[in-house]
Parts: sequence; C-alpha cells; structure tokens
Amino acid sequence: MAYKNFTVETDADGIALVTWDMPDKSMNVFTEEVMDEIDAIIDQVVADDAIKGAVFTSGKKDSFSGGADITMLKKMFDIIQTEKAKDPEKAMQMLFDGAGRMSWLWRKLETCGKPWVSAINGTCMGGAFELSLACHGRVVADSKAVKMALPEVKIGIFPGAGGTQRVPRLTNQQDALQMMTQGSSLTPQRAKALGLVHEVVPPKKLIAAARKMIKDGLKPVQPWDEKGFRLPGGKIYSPAGANLWPAASAILRRETHMNYPGAAAILKCVYEGLLVPFDTALKIEQRYFANVLQTTEAGSMIRSLFVSLQELNKGARRPEGIRPTKFRKVGVIGAGFMGAGIAYVTAKAGIPVVLIDRTQEAAEKGKAHSDNLMTKAMQKGRATAEEKEKLLSLITPSTDYADLEGADLVIEAVFEDSEVKKAATEQAEAHLKPSAVFASNTSTIPITSLAKNSKRPKNFIGIHFFSPVDKMMLVEVIMGKRTGDKALAVALDYVRAIKKTGIVVNDTRGFYVNRCVLRYMQEAYSMLIEGVPPAMIENAAKMAGMPVGPLALTDETAIDLAQKIMKQTIRDLGEKAVDPRHMELIDTMVDKHGRHGRKNGKGFYDYPAKPAKKHLWPELKTLYPQQDADSIDFGELKQRLLVTIALEAARVMEEGIVTDPREADVGSILAFGFAPYTGGTLSYIDGMGVANFVDLANRLRRKYGAQFRVPKLLKEMAENGETFYSRFDPYAKVDKAA
Ligand code: NAD
Repeated sequence: MAYKNFTVETDADGIALVTWDMPDKSMNVFTEEVMDEIDAIIDQVVADDAIKGAVFTSGKKDSFSGGADITMLKKMFDIIQTEKAKDPEKAMQMLFDGAGRMSWLWRKLETCGKPWVSAINGTCMGGAFELSLACHGRVVADSKAVKMALPEVKIGIFPGAGGTQRVPRLTNQQDALQMMTQGSSLTPQRAKALGLVHEVVPPKKLIAAARKMIKDGLKPVQPWDEKGFRLPGGKIYSPAGANLWPAASAILRRETHMNYPGAAAILKCVYEGLLVPFDTALKIEQRYFANVLQTTEAGSMIRSLFVSLQELNKGARRPEGIRPTKFRKVGVIGAGFMGAGIAYVTAKAGIPVVLIDRTQEAAEKGKAHSDNLMTKAMQKGRATAEEKEKLLSLITPSTDYADLEGADLVIEAVFEDSEVKKAATEQAEAHLKPSAVFASNTSTIPITSLAKNSKRPKNFIGIHFFSPVDKMMLVEVIMGKRTGDKALAVALDYVRAIKKTGIVVNDTRGFYVNRCVLRYMQEAYSMLIEGVPPAMIENAAKMAGMPVGPLALTDETAIDLAQKIMKQTIRDLGEKAVDPRHMELIDTMVDKHGRHGRKNGKGFYDYPAKPAKKHLWPELKTLYPQQDADSIDFGELKQRLLVTIALEAARVMEEGIVTDPREADVGSILAFGFAPYTGGTLSYIDGMGVANFVDLANRLRRKYGAQFRVPKLLKEMAENGETFYSRFDPYAKVDKAA
C-alpha cells in the first residue's frame, strides 16, 4: 500500500519498518491525513499474515516528531467557536470525539495483537511521545538530538492522548506528575532511569535493536493489560499515595496559583485514572481534555504560545520579496554589558563577529563574557570544549572600525548618549558597504533621531535586546520614520538566525515593552504610597501570574536607573509626565537611604550574603502609614497590576506603535512574563471581553486614578463588540491574498 507520509517495508523476518517522513516538511507533525494513514497502517499490519510486528520510526534527521500540527488544534477551536453557537450538544460531542481521536488510535495500536516498537531517533514531543508510549517497546538513540517530552502544559493543555495514564503506569507517580506539570524534556538516560523507555543504543544500531526486540519475542500486550498488573509507584490509596497526593496538590497551588486549568487537569487525570481500569481511565482523560480545551486559558495560550509564536518565528512580519540574508559577518560596537551578550548570541549562531570597543582591553573583556558562559555551559554538560573553542574563534575583539568592512549588519551598543552614538555611527559607516544595515540597541533614544546621524537612514533600524541577552528570547525591532523594508528584513533575519523572536515596533519613547513594564512598577509605587504592605504587593503580582514582583523587578533593573529615567522624562516632557509622589518615593530610596537595587545589595529588598535569601527591606513599611491588611481587597491588587499593563498595551495599539496583536501578546509574555495563562496583554482583554475590561478599568479609575483611563480605541471596540483579534485581524491580508 502506498502512503503519502509513510513508507512500510517488511523484511525477511516479517518485521515491518514504518518510516514517517512527511514530504515538504522539515519535521513530522500530526495532521488529519497522518492520523488516517497511521490508522490504515495498523490495519495493514494486522491483516497481513506475513507481518509479525512493526517498528515505527522517522525518516527525518535528528527528529522523530514535533507533535500535533497547528491545523489539528485550530480545528478543535473552530468547533468551539462556530459549532457551539449553532448546536451546543452536537458541538460538545464533536469536541469530545475530536479530543479522543488520537487517544483511541494509540489504544488500537497497543491492543492490535502484534508487537510494535518505537525507534526514537531525535526530538519526540507530545503526541509522538504518547504514540511511543503506546508501543510495546521503545528504543532510543543515544544522541544529544534526542529530547522527549510531554510539553502540552506549556500551551495551556495537557497530554491528552494517553500520556497522563501511561506515564504513571510506567514510573512512579511523583516523577510522572513532575514531568507532565512542568512539561520538562527527558534525555534518553533519564527516560531509561524512569522506566519510560526500554533501551538506549548507539544511533546507528537503533533500527536493528528495535527489530531485535520483536525477533526476541516481544509480547504484544502492555503491562496494564496483563492480569495482576501493579502500579510501579503503588496504589493511590496506600501509605505512599497518602504521602504524595496532599503534597502534590499543595505544590500545584504554590507553583501555578491555580491559574492553569491544564496543569490542574493533569493531577485530576492521574489521580482518578489510576483508580480504574485502563479504558475507563482513557475516557476520564478524554473528558478532562475536552473540558480544558474550552477554557479561555487554553484558547489564549495555544494562540499566543504555539500558533502566533511559530508564525512570528517563521517570518510572519517579514516584508515579502526580499532575499533571505546570509550573515557572513556582524559587527558589534560597544563591548559592555549588552554588547558582550550580543556578540555571544551571534557567535553561538555560527556567525563571525567583530566586537569593537574604545580600548583593546575593553573589547577583550567583552569577549571574555562568552568564555565565561561557555565554561559554565561545559560544567553543566551542555557544551563541549570544541564548541567553546569554535564559538570563541568567531569573535574578533578590536578597536579598529576598519575591521567592520564587509559586515552585513552592525549593532551599536555604546553608552546611552546621543553624541557617543553619533560618533560610532559615523566611524562605522565610513567602512560599511552600501547595503549593510546599521542597528542601534538604544533603549530610550528615538531611532528616528539617531538615524539623522546616518548617511543611509533607510538602512538604519533599532534592534532592542533585553538583559541578560543570552536568556531573554524577545527582541524588539524598531522602525524609524525612514527605515526601509530591506533593513527590516535583515533585522528579522538576524533575530531568527540567533533563534530569538522579533516583534516589529514603531518608534516611540520606551518602545512597547518598557512602556508596559514602567506601568507595572508605577502601580506598585502607588500601592506602597497608599500603605499596602509590600509583601502583599509582591504576592498579588505572583498570584496574578507574573514571574517577578514589581518591587523585585525595580531592584533588578536598578532604582537609581528608575530615578534617572523619571528625571529625564520630566526634562523632556515636563513636570506633569511623572507622578510627584512616585518621584518622591524613588528620591527617598536613592538619595536618602542609598538604596540602588540589587546591584548595591540594597533596594526594596535586602540582599544578604548567600545562602541567605533576599527579603523585603523591613524599613520599607515605615515610609508610609500602613493599611490594615485585612481591609485590602487582594483580588483588586491583582487586577490593578494586570490592568495597568494591558491598558498601556491597548494605547500602544491605538497609537499604531505595535500593529499586530500577535506581537503585543507574544512580546509581553517573552519579555516580562505577562501572566502567560492569559495569552498576553491583549488576549487578557479579549479573554474577559472588551466591554467587561472597560467596566473594570473604569471602576479602578474612579478608585485609584487617571492611570486607568480607558483609551478611545477600547471604548469604540466595546461599543462595536470587537476584539483585538477581530479589529486588527492578523490574517485579514493573508486571507485576501489567498
Ligand atoms: P555599558 O556601559 O555596559 O557598555 C557600553 C560600552 O560601550 C562600554 O564598554 C564602552 O567602553 C563602549 N563604548 C563607549 N563609547 C564607545 C565608542 N565610541 N566606540 C566603541 N565603544 C564604545 O552599557 P550597556 O548597558 O551595555 O548599554 C549599551 C546600550 O544598550 C545603551 O544604548 C543602552 O541603552 C542599551 N540597552 C541596555 C540595556 C541594559 O539592560 N543595560 C538593555 C537594552 C538596551
């Protein structure tokens, strides 16, 4: 039989080798067609008497499969959105059936009567790992390319194709819960230690080892289908279970603040599923899966963290018709804190870098940053000595701008001073080819004004990194008034090459991310001034889903920097641009108490020597008369922190600074961890309904002030019943074209 995505070859021993190799795709993914073909292949294997068993593998180098395709998930959401309105009961049935399609297909495979072995040669994610778990044997290549995970929780759902049932029937429940609620990756060795795979073999022997398992008489029956099966971690109602489960619920609460229905469902599925026979357990999982799919959290997270993220990374915002850039050389000017990091990520992508500073010593020091990072990576087993040597060989520290000759792109990260930047631009341009793009990493100076220093403003752009550069996944690409499409394409190609996500932002003070972050911090200052206990502010932020409290975040970025920015803002925009109470608070912290933030060990927090942990500065409470904690509406504190950021994001859209809601959403999560369960700043508004959001903001404005004033755009959207994704439909252009 011929298949589009698979080949099936049976050898002399009667072992069928099923190779998954989708044409026109670099990675195998589950589509409707793939599912249909797997169904047919199972039937073929069962029907053909010459076939004794089957080995399932991938034809792609270093990857088995990335899991479900976007189209599969989109179909589920279409059912929820369109069918539900027409016939809710029918829609529920469709959703339930859809949620179980993969699950029951894997069940069919494991109960088909012939043995299956999965030969895992590389990345094996989500549904593909669940398929492997349904095979009677699992052999894994001993290679760095192999990563196995059930990462669904990261996009708001959970492993719904038997994962929550097979994993805790193969390993102990604690490890099973941890792996699934964190979505963490397993190496072959770790998977073997957990009992999730049977053999780890050299890559070249993978298929032979899988075949041998069948030849050696692998039983086509899963442990849980055998009589007398015992759970490896013991029963739920056992002393071990009594130890684990209360703690597991508490940990889930601590880690997620119950903001993530997908994570909670994992615990429910495992607990309830292990009490019943396997087929019933799968049905329980299927019900929870259909239920979680209907949550706003799942819809928003899948859209932002799966669909939009992939689309942006694949160049959704890249201008068409411009040839992809091959970077032969990138220049970085300024080898300080940021420049050193930029040089590192560039060299890590295999691109030669010239790293320029005022003295050779400073340039060398910038390169030493890469040395440090690679040494640490080696200590953790994440890099080899050769990789370190190769990366370092790509960075050339220098003081000579002539070394920039031939560079395709230059990124300037010198002091935040217009004059210094002007000199750097002129010196660099003297040596650049006409097509080269010049980018500034400025955080506060408008790109349009810096472009005036350039002879080629069309080729002048902002590439705004966040610190620490090696860890932060977002980059803002800033368009000056005269920046051209070619520069945008080159900047986005570069961001893609260094494996980060770029969002396109039009020029404005603070761009997008910092405007939002400032609002977050400012609301915390207001709360402090109102006498809200500092610990409540930080806890409210975390319970609202923010990774770092606003006071801790101010400490990280430095309180004296906040002071500098506020003073500069007053100089540029006038006294009214800064709340005088905020200025007074920050002046008191810096000038009176010498509290500059984490960098001098004294900020809103105290930073005692390790191993002691940081803790809020006790005297903070004495700066303002404290309110009685019991009289404070804690839920409202959480809302204030999220709403103030979301309002700023809405203003940014209104002003046309960001034009695509996908970028605002993805950017907010990657840059400052905006409550990921919401799907980002704009999805937070869409998720609760624009009209509800406007009501909420109005209520907060009446109580707390003008920072909650609703922009005209939102009022209009509320009146028209619009959402950000309908009003600024990112697919409108694509659909029209199609
Ligand atoms: P830094 O002071 O650590 O580094 C600046 C470096 O530039 C120094 O090594 C300095 O010697 C060098 N330099 C100064 N003039 C030069 C010249 N004419 N030619 C070559 N080198 C020169 O500063 P930083 O924190 O790395 O910031 C650099 C830029 O990045 C600034 O524009 C800043 O606004 C921006 N930025 C900073 C952050 C951050 O978190 N620090 C984040 C985003 C953007």
